[in-house]
Amino acid sequence: MRLSAASITALFLFMAPGLADDVPLPRPRPPEADRKVALPVEIDPLEREAALKLCEEFVRADVAVATALEPMAWDNGCTAAAPLSMTAIKLASGKLVELKPAAVLRCPTALVIARWVRDDLTPLAERLGSRIERVDVASSFACRPRNSVLGAVMSEHGNANALDISALHLADGSRIAIQNAAGPPEFLAGMRQSACARFTTVLGPGADKDHETHLHVDLAERRNGYRICQWVLPEPVKAPGTAAAGAETAGKTIEKEK
Ligand SMILES: [Zn+2]
Repeated sequence: MRLSAASITALFLFMAPGLADDVPLPRPRPPEADRKVALPVEIDPLEREAALKLCEEFVRADVAVATALEPMAWDNGCTAAAPLSMTAIKLASGKLVELKPAAVLRCPTALVIARWVRDDLTPLAERLGSRIERVDVASSFACRPRNSVLGAVMSEHGNANALDISALHLADGSRIAIQNAAGPPEFLAGMRQSACARFTTVLGPGADKDHETHLHVDLAERRNGYRICQWVLPEPVKAPGTAAAGAETAGKTIEKEK
């Protein structure tokens, strides 16, 4: 019996279902993919010029204390053409909110972060009868792939376009931590809502295992203006027996059963 090419293929797929399931096979990784040390490269002068231009608005806004850093670029795609080191955010009252340690960011990202702390988080803290004294920075510019997985897409941290926050310290001595949502629920809800309005990516506890201890915000640009807002806060506890509490619980239950 002669077998046609098609039947040989069918037989092969039948005999090797594992292989059939695995198609398409991953492309072989380039040899440099596993190289752990990136090499510095010259920054493109036009990119540098454009980045410096974007810093003008940051300087004009006068909402932060920051110093300019030398441009940085590596052959793995990490680039910060006009980075700055932001040590504090200036409040309208003249008081400063310290960033600890200082955050290394591109100017447009630094500006949005400063405005967020100044115009959104500060009023939330005032409602608690206090003010923010310090932001604990878990990470800012870091030349690494997403979630530090080698070969993964370059993280926005690699372009100085992202900030990780682990906690906020208030002037009354209290600390609001991202992990376990340790803080007043109304403050955390407002922080989440304002972060998702200002940033195109918000990842916190509940997003994935890499974001249980901190809040990641960045200004990644995506096609169609797609935004990611993933930070799960605990359900607020309502007084039992009230009509509003009952209605809300009923609504949530239906939603979960979909
Ligand atoms: Zn991050």
